[in-house]
Amino acid sequence: MSNQKIQISIKPDENGFIGRECLVCKRYFKLKQGTGLPTNHCHCPYCDYEGDQDTFWTSDQIEYAKSIATKIAYEQFIEPAFEKLKKSFEQLEESTKNSFIKIEVKTSRDKPFFPIKYYSESELETNIICDSCKLEFAIYGVFSRCPDCEHLNAFSIFKKSIEVCNKQFQLFSVYKNDDEITTTNLKFILGNAISSFDALGKELRKKIKEKFPEKPRNLFQNIDELEKVMLNSFSVDLRNEISDFAFLKQMFQVRHIFEHNMGVIDSDFVKKVPSYENLLNRKYKLTIIEVERFLLIINELGDLIESQIKKIYT
Ligand SMILES: [Zn+2]
Ligand SMILES: [Zn+2]
Repeated sequence: MSNQKIQISIKPDENGFIGRECLVCKRYFKLKQGTGLPTNHCHCPYCDYEGDQDTFWTSDQIEYAKSIATKIAYEQFIEPAFEKLKKSFEQLEESTKNSFIKIEVKTSRDKPFFPIKYYSESELETNIICDSCKLEFAIYGVFSRCPDCEHLNAFSIFKKSIEVCNKQFQLFSVYKNDDEITTTNLKFILGNAISSFDALGKELRKKIKEKFPEKPRNLFQNIDELEKVMLNSFSVDLRNEISDFAFLKQMFQVRHIFEHNMGVIDSDFVKKVPSYENLLNRKYKLTIIEVERFLLIINELGDLIESQIKKIYT
């Protein structure tokens, strides 16, 4: 029998997404057909593997296709061949009916059962629309590169987190709270904004290793070190480029004492923000104006880093 091709179609889920599995890291994602770039090429959103779309079938899809193909192969090729063989034996039987040597053929054969291995696509954790090529895709986790255009979504995720901080801020401002609750809320928003910036940094260090060194560990929480890295890797001086860099640095220190020293100004804080020397061992009084301003400046810092990366990589 010559080589025969059987075409099996893999249908998308009820939302138009088709499951994909990386050949290398074996992780699962989904993308919506008809969105993004007109390409047959695909890039794993988790690792660096890239290849033809045909190399991204999931194990479930392959098992399903194999089960259908086996059934079709049997029905279209094997069964007719059996029938043909049976017929030729019957003819032989008929032609030897009156001969000295008679040939009798008995066939007993049950039609085999071929179960179809149905599957359904899995639910994922984050749905993303690529900022750059508009591909709709879904992943586990939060950060990724776009499977079509490789655009990094880390900055969009960061900006969204800062938007959420702004919303929390507006929500808290509606109520007239006592000082202690106001400070707790402000500390919470400040902490969230810095954590989002730190998460952005971790992702950038994973994806752009050549520009963001492994050490120090908490580079995006240590604004003095980040200043050095931006200067070395991008020739950008944060002190000149950020509208109030001294204030930004101060707020990172404020977060530090709220996290580790109950908001009390310590000698380390004074070393970094000398104008607070007369308030040593006193509680830092975090204000609404400061947090509002901080959210604007941290966004500005994110935009600056993004523009520098774009300059080099696009
Ligand atoms: Zn992968
Ligand atoms: Zn894209």
